[in-house]
Amino acid sequence: MHAIIQRLQDCLGLAGVLFEKEDVAPYCKDWRGIFSGDALAVAMPKTTQQVAEIVQLCQELHVKIVPQGGNTGLCGGATPEGDAPQIILSLKRLNQIREIDLANQTITVEAGCILQSIQEKVAASGAFFPLSLAAQGSCTVGGNLATNAGGINVLRYGNTRDICLGIEAVLASGEVYSHLKGLRKDNTGYDLKNLLIGSEGTLGIITAGVFKLFPSPFDHSAALVAIDDVSEMVALLHELQRRAGNELCAFEMMSRESLELTIRHFPEFNRPIFTAAKYTLLIELANFEVDNSSASNRVQAVLEETLEGYLVKGAILDAALATSEAQVNEFWAIRDHITLAQAKEPGNIKFDISFAISKIASFIKSTDAILQQKFNGVQIINFGHLGDGNLHYNLCAPKDAKSDYILNHEKNMTELVIAQIQLFDGSISAEHGIGQLKREYLMHHRGRVAYQMMVAIKKALDPDNLLNPNKVLFSEE
Ligand SMILES: Cc1cc2nc3c(=O)[nH]c(=O)nc-3n(C[C@H](O)[C@H](O)[C@H](O)COP(=O)(O)OP(=O)(O)OC[C@H]3O[C@@H](n4cnc5c(N)ncnc54)[C@H](O)[C@@H]3O)c2cc1C
Repeated sequence: MHAIIQRLQDCLGLAGVLFEKEDVAPYCKDWRGIFSGDALAVAMPKTTQQVAEIVQLCQELHVKIVPQGGNTGLCGGATPEGDAPQIILSLKRLNQIREIDLANQTITVEAGCILQSIQEKVAASGAFFPLSLAAQGSCTVGGNLATNAGGINVLRYGNTRDICLGIEAVLASGEVYSHLKGLRKDNTGYDLKNLLIGSEGTLGIITAGVFKLFPSPFDHSAALVAIDDVSEMVALLHELQRRAGNELCAFEMMSRESLELTIRHFPEFNRPIFTAAKYTLLIELANFEVDNSSASNRVQAVLEETLEGYLVKGAILDAALATSEAQVNEFWAIRDHITLAQAKEPGNIKFDISFAISKIASFIKSTDAILQQKFNGVQIINFGHLGDGNLHYNLCAPKDAKSDYILNHEKNMTELVIAQIQLFDGSISAEHGIGQLKREYLMHHRGRVAYQMMVAIKKALDPDNLLNPNKVLFSEE
């Protein structure tokens, strides 16, 4: 037995350490089942002080640390890799809500809090916590911070970093960096919070965060819209932004193929509207005026009138408006199940990419055509947060292809799509991060100067390469 196990038990007690192979195994593979590795143990601290002690212990015994929250990440960042002795540091038991400060409209939470539990706690206090994604029943807020998660409300509230006012983190030195004052303005030197947010566990272990709260929407209006033309989608987005301002909360796009896939795996959903349309949009507006139905009528009227205008001019093919909050939730359930349906497919290549909204239509047109020309029949499962310029552009084998089709073509397909992303000035990772999945493309994508800056930051904060080695950046050991 490795010496670290006894030392971890001394620090965390028997209940705080898993080391039997069958107990550790579930933590050693990722949500999609495409990455796996080995760890000596899973350490489960309950306090920031314990996290600091574990880091010091790992320093002393030369054991690497892979931080892990809910293990819902989609790029292998929380999965151990390589032969170096390493442990998984699970933040799940560090899960207290430290404070809800309604006067400051903030909440301070520990990293292991499950996202949905935060939403529910905040709702019970009468406020609103806007971060929302399909994995919210399992992902942790520490993981959301470490990946700068996006989700379905970015259009109005921004990414995780935009709603975070400060964090607490344990550094590779074992020291605790703490900035949890809940300040909305603070220009005192470098922005260390934003350096750690999105660093995927490579620069520090996030133990807590303080977040902005918002007024709770009174109710929502939502519509599903059948549409063929991506340029018309972008025009509709701008029209709604012009007419509804930031009452427009979500503008999601689902291709016909992505809906067919979802209905095949989850037959409880019916295809909601016009079957032949190339795309279906899910549009949501929120009404923030607390008093009465006239305000919700106004928001609903903006949506109805705009869609009517687009129907009349033939820019959209069909539209269905939700008639109740329950129906709004039904619309979202379909959208949320696309990733789950995709995970049930045997082989697929995921691209979580972003563009200037003005370039999205050209990217899709050009890339769809080139892919079909080179890989005839390839299924393009394209959906995403169109309002944020973010596509989940995923590829599956042609319907009648052999089972090893994706394996055989993965490299060529990936390089082709990445070349297209470069051509249209996009990003190879809009919200999921780099982890292990996109690591080999990072230097080329960001360029030498940016990459070297990242290497220098990693060396300065983690000179012994203790934290999540070989994730985001290749280790230089
Ligand atoms: C069905 C589904 C839908 C999804 N939808 C979205 C979406 O809409 N938008 C989106 O952005 N993502 C989405 N994701 C991806 C994923 O849920 C997010 O990346 C989430 O933020 C990860 O949180 P987690 O707690 O599961 O982190 P993990 O998977 O455990 O870890 C992710 C990364 O963060 C690091 N990490 C975790 N906790 C800490 C910590 N406390 N300190 C330092 N590093 C840490 C890990 O080392 C790893 O690199 C989805 C995933 C699934 C399965």
